Amino acid sequence: MIRQKIVAGNWKMNGSKESIFSLLSGLLEMGDSNSEVVIAPSFPYLSQVNALVDGGCLVLAAQNISDEVKGAYTGEVSASMLGDFGVKYVLLGHSERRAIYRETDSVVAAKVKVALEFGLTPMLCIGETLEERESNQTLSVCERQIQVVIDAVGIEAFENMVVAYEPVWAIGTGLSASAEQAQEVHQSIRAFLAKSSESVSQKVQILYGGSVKASTCSALFQMPDVDGALVGGASLDAKEFIAIVKAA
Ligand code: PGA
Repeated sequence: MIRQKIVAGNWKMNGSKESIFSLLSGLLEMGDSNSEVVIAPSFPYLSQVNALVDGGCLVLAAQNISDEVKGAYTGEVSASMLGDFGVKYVLLGHSERRAIYRETDSVVAAKVKVALEFGLTPMLCIGETLEERESNQTLSVCERQIQVVIDAVGIEAFENMVVAYEPVWAIGTGLSASAEQAQEVHQSIRAFLAKSSESVSQKVQILYGGSVKASTCSALFQMPDVDGALVGGASLDAKEFIAIVKAA
């Protein structure tokens, strides 16, 4: 099955009006690509970015949503609000949110459910810590993080979702998983999804994330179960990000 590649840039809590304008000006020179190219700015910049990319080659993602629909939840942003700003994807279950903001598997599953209800496509981030990898728990952790979501929304919902395998030890550390290590886990994730639905497992795009760089991503993109990348640090540099997009 041919799956379109996705290259997504997670800008995290970075940027200013000025720096985003110049980053976007660089990105808009990219021209056509075979992949879907996604960028995830912080909430305050969604409107600015949406106005600049509207109808162009870049697709908008948000970095988080509330698991509530609306009402008295000070400081939260709802899925429906993001729809107003042309947002298509939302990152959910990122390890920084799981670790720093104590988002549990069930909170992540609740957010996935709300995102789908309001027409957003969740990019479900999963992955093990170094300690878990060293104690051979990589697959059991990934499977647990996926199973909670299957239990909440059903396997068919994964047709409208993307999975991002992001080993926690590789995020922002400069230590990327090798292409072979990534492939091994991606293949196992797909096999795990296949236990619930073979056809869904073949359709789901599984991205790799964790210190993805232009210099190392070509090998990654050759792997049969790697359907693109979720890029953090390297997505803040237009040239570097474009080079990753071109390699995909
Ligand atoms: P990184 O971040 O590329 O800087 O490691 C990836 C991510 O957190 O999505």
